[in-house]
Amino acid sequence: MPAQVYDIAVIGGGVNGCGIARDAAGRGLKVLLVEQNDLASGTSSMSTKLIHGGLRYLEQYEFKLVRESLIEREILWQMAPHIIQPLRFVLPHSPGLRPAWLIRIGLFLYDHIGGRKLLPASHGLDLTHDPAGKPLKQDVKRGFEYSDCRVDDARLVVLNAMDARAHGADLRPRTRMLSARRTAEHWDIELGPGGSRTPTHVAARILVNAAGPWVGVVADHLADEETQRTPQQRSGVHLVKGSHIVVPRLYDNPRAYIFQTPDGRIVFAIPYQDDYTLIGTTDVDYNDDPGKVCISDDEVRYLCAAISSYFIKQVTPADVIWSFSGLRPLFDEGDVSAKERSRDYVLELDAPQGRPPLLTIFGGKITTYRHLAEDVLRQLTPFLPAAGPPWTRGAVLPGGDFPVDGLARLQHELLDKCPDLGDKTAARLVHAYGTLAADMLGGAGSVADLGRHFGAGLYQREVDYLIANEWAASADDILWRRCKLGLRFSQRETRKLQDYLKTRLAKGSAAPPLQP
Ligand code: FAD
Repeated sequence: MPAQVYDIAVIGGGVNGCGIARDAAGRGLKVLLVEQNDLASGTSSMSTKLIHGGLRYLEQYEFKLVRESLIEREILWQMAPHIIQPLRFVLPHSPGLRPAWLIRIGLFLYDHIGGRKLLPASHGLDLTHDPAGKPLKQDVKRGFEYSDCRVDDARLVVLNAMDARAHGADLRPRTRMLSARRTAEHWDIELGPGGSRTPTHVAARILVNAAGPWVGVVADHLADEETQRTPQQRSGVHLVKGSHIVVPRLYDNPRAYIFQTPDGRIVFAIPYQDDYTLIGTTDVDYNDDPGKVCISDDEVRYLCAAISSYFIKQVTPADVIWSFSGLRPLFDEGDVSAKERSRDYVLELDAPQGRPPLLTIFGGKITTYRHLAEDVLRQLTPFLPAAGPPWTRGAVLPGGDFPVDGLARLQHELLDKCPDLGDKTAARLVHAYGTLAADMLGGAGSVADLGRHFGAGLYQREVDYLIANEWAASADDILWRRCKLGLRFSQRETRKLQDYLKTRLAKGSAAPPLQP
C-alpha cells in the first residue's frame, strides 16, 4: 500500500472538476485534482458566460434542467456576487418565428418554476419607444425582457480551486493523468507533466473522470488489473462545438439581446468588457482532437448574418477582433441533432463489487456545476463513510463575502485606499477579486507602490498575487483567464509580461497563498 492514499482523485480542472474537489475537500476528504494545462483552459473558459436556466431548453421539455438551473442562478449569485451579476435580456419578437403567446408562456414558466426571489421578472416591450429598439431594424416592433446572470467563467473555476485548496485539497495544474490502473484496493494513477520528465504515481480510493471533452480519451487510458480491460466503456460522449465572435461594441444600452434564427436556434449579443459585444453561439458536431478546436469561416459568417438580420449596423467577418470555440461534452443519445441534444449532465458510476469505484461525468452546464458536485458526492459517500454532509449551498466563494448589491461600495473603499488606481481599474479589481481586492493590493496607497505597470491597469503586484495564489504561470493564464485583459494588451505589452514571468518564475513563488 502506498504511503499516501487520496480518498478521491479528480481528473480535470474545469468547473466540474474544481467544484467536485471543493465540495469533497470541505467534507473532510483527502482530495487530489490534476489538470493537464491551466485551470479552466478547456470548455470552462469558452462558454457564453451565462448563469441561466436556458429559455430555449423549455421547448425541448427539459423542465427539470431549467428548474434546477434557475434555482442555482440565485444561489450562485449570492455565493460570488463579484464575478456573477444580473443581466437583462431583450427578446425581439419576429413575426413568422415562434408566436408571441408561446414566448409569453415560456417566460411565465421561466419566472415561476425556479424560485426567483431577487431578480426582476419578465415583461413585454414596445421596441418602437424603448431604447432597446434603437439599434434594431425598424420591422422589429415588439419584444420581451427577462432576467438571467452573467459570470466570469474562468474565475469561477479558479475560485472553486482556491476554496478546495483552503479545505486541504491538493491541486496540481500542468499535470496530466497518463494512465490509471484499478487494483484490488485503490487506483494506481500515473501522472506526468509531459516531455521527458519521469512520471510519478499516486493512489486514490476513487477516481473521478471530469475531463470534459477529453472524457473518452481519459477512459481509454484506464485499465482494470483483474479483467485486463478498460473498465468503463458503456457510454460515449458526443462533442458539439460552439463558437463565439467578439466585435467592437454594437450598441449603447447595457442589456443583452437574444435573437431567434430561422433554423430554430438562438444567438446572443452580449455587452462585453465595456467596449465590445460578444456574439454566439453555434452548434456543430465535432469529431477531431479536442485540443484543436477552433472557429470555422462558416461559423463566423453564420454569426455575422444572424446578428446583421436584426441590427441596423451590419456585422461582417472583417469586424471580428477575437473569437473562441469550446466543446460541449454531451452524453451520446444516438441519432439526435447537435442543437437538440440535452445539456443536462449524466453521471455514470462503475463500482464492481468491493473494488475501487470510477465515476464519469458527461455534459452539464457552468450553471449546474455546484449541484453536479453535490450529486457526485451523494453517489460516492456510500464508499466514503467518513465524508461530511453537503455544505456548499450558501457557502461563499473567495472574495464573495459581501451583499449582492455591494460592488459599488467595495469599489469606493478600494479607491479610498488607493485613489490614483482610477475607476476602470478599481472596477475591474472588485469584479475579479471582490473583498480580496484590498488584500491583493496589500496596503498600497498609490499605484507607485504596485511595481511595474505592464499595460491596461495590470501591475506587478497583481501578477505576483496571481502567481502566488491562483496558479498563474504564463501570460495567457493571466491575460485570458485570470484577468481577461487580453483584448486590451498590445503585442509589446504581452512580451513585457512574458519576460517578467520568465524571470519571476525562475526565482520561484515568494509569497505564500492568502487564506480566503
Ligand atoms: P472542461 O472545462 O473542459 O474541463 C475539463 C478539463 O480536463 C480540461 O481543462 C482538460 O484540460 C482537463 N483534462 C483532460 N484530460 C486530462 C488528463 N488526462 N489529465 C489532466 N487533465 C485533463 N454553460 C452554462 O451554464 N452557461 C453558458 O453560458 C454556457 N455556454 C456554453 C457555450 C459553449 C460554446 C459551450 C461549449 C459550453 C457552454 N456551457 C455553458 C457549458 C459549460 O461551459 C460546460 O458544461 C462546462 O464548462 C464543462 O466543464 P467541465 O469541467 O466538464 O469541462
